[in-house]
Amino acid sequence: MCGPAVRIPNAMEIYALQPVSGGVAPKWLNPGLIERVPVNGSQVTLDGMELRLCGRRTASGKVRSGEYHIPPGTLVEVWRDADGLFVCARAADVDSVRVGQLARDAALRAAVKEREQRLRAQAAAFNADLAIPLRWAPGVTEDDRAQQDGASEQSSDRVIHILLRESIHDGRLVRKAGDLLCRRSAGLGSGRRQVPRPVEGAQVTCKECLAFAKRWRSD
Ligand SMILES: [Zn+2]
Repeated sequence: MCGPAVRIPNAMEIYALQPVSGGVAPKWLNPGLIERVPVNGSQVTLDGMELRLCGRRTASGKVRSGEYHIPPGTLVEVWRDADGLFVCARAADVDSVRVGQLARDAALRAAVKEREQRLRAQAAAFNADLAIPLRWAPGVTEDDRAQQDGASEQSSDRVIHILLRESIHDGRLVRKAGDLLCRRSAGLGSGRRQVPRPVEGAQVTCKECLAFAKRWRSD
């Protein structure tokens, strides 16, 4: 993410607020509500309710009581915590934490994308090195997926086969287009779903397929 350098506070100061006067407006029953108001003295006024800054939240979530002064006019963001207590933090702190989070998220996404691209390049180089003189694609079968319960499409645990796009009759190796190199699709147990399908950009991992493919390697 481009932009000015962002100062990220180590820990955003969160202050506890104590109602001094006025009732809680019904809209504040909504736990997700956030509002920004200026500090006046050591108090804020929220929908007719006066709240006093009465302490500061520690990292463990406890409130350390005390007098806390935020310069008058400073904008604070007010919300209710998980226990329904009113708390606030300087709006500027909240913003820089959010911007910092956005920057971290963007950096993380960039790293994930870079890793995916690197893995795809590795897979492409590995697959090309197999020097298979037939049209083919990396492929998986539903059967393998059932065995690897829960393995996702991108999971490195999936067995990636060599899925042939054309037939071959080479000595004892007889395969049709749509077969895997390691086994024929026809003649497998009925009722088992054995429809290989291609997985773009995946690296072949099936040991049997790789063993069959050795016949085409000159080294
Ligand atoms: Zn295979």
